[in-house]
Amino acid sequence: MRIEALEPHQVFVFGSNASGHHGAGAARMAHERFGAVWGEGHGLHGQSYAIDTMSGLPTIEREVQAFLAFAAEQPELELLVTEIGCGIAGYTPEQVDVVVLSHFHPDHIGGLMTDGAPTFANARYVTGAQEYNFWSKMEAGNRVGDLVASNVTPLAEKTEFIEDGASVAPGVTAMAAFGHTPGHMVYHLESGERRLVLTADLANHYVWSFAHPEWIVSFDSDKEAATASRRKVLGMLAADRVPMIGYHMPFPAAGFVETRGEGFRFVPVSYQLMG
Ligand SMILES: [Zn+2]
Repeated sequence: MRIEALEPHQVFVFGSNASGHHGAGAARMAHERFGAVWGEGHGLHGQSYAIDTMSGLPTIEREVQAFLAFAAEQPELELLVTEIGCGIAGYTPEQVDVVVLSHFHPDHIGGLMTDGAPTFANARYVTGAQEYNFWSKMEAGNRVGDLVASNVTPLAEKTEFIEDGASVAPGVTAMAAFGHTPGHMVYHLESGERRLVLTADLANHYVWSFAHPEWIVSFDSDKEAATASRRKVLGMLAADRVPMIGYHMPFPAAGFVETRGEGFRFVPVSYQLMG
């Protein structure tokens, strides 16, 4: 792969809006605890950045550039770009019965339509009423609102708009976790004795969204509500020892939550001793 326009020392933390000494501290913490690569001083905006080497390609163009810059300096790395979705799980889009949406940021609704037609031709949809009410009222020109108009509103007749505590399907329950967006939902899965929570974008960074639930990421729309939701859901996961899957957590994105000081810690399942 030929990579151009590199600025080799710009490396990023996905979703970070930490700056100054907070940014440097966050980068150092990621490095010390998780081995993330970090550099100081010469990134965009003069901040310090760490690159999350396990989360894959960030979605923002400048972050992708920064990621490519980092990758170009690592000759042993192979860069794989893959279309993630049901194909990987061995299903075709036509086989999908229910599409459950956590919130309407572009990386969560961008694939709903393909060439103007529903990607999942036979599916019904479930999402939070509050999320739809907020974004569908945006005036034209709002980036997310426009994407909701093209990708979600055409599916509204096939969509069930739910509230906190609603049952999505047997064993799947919605939990309000507002703040990242006005109607952001997480989903509790239960099968027999086993439980799992899909935390979606409740916590965007695997180090400091946990260590400091009050540190918002730039995408959190309501700082107070997002912080309260993180404390509520992460506290429940830690107390009940329920595993979670977070959409921007490092591969394999599943783990447990521990309390640590005033905050929490994400413990990936791959680091658990099995036996
Ligand atoms: Zn999001």
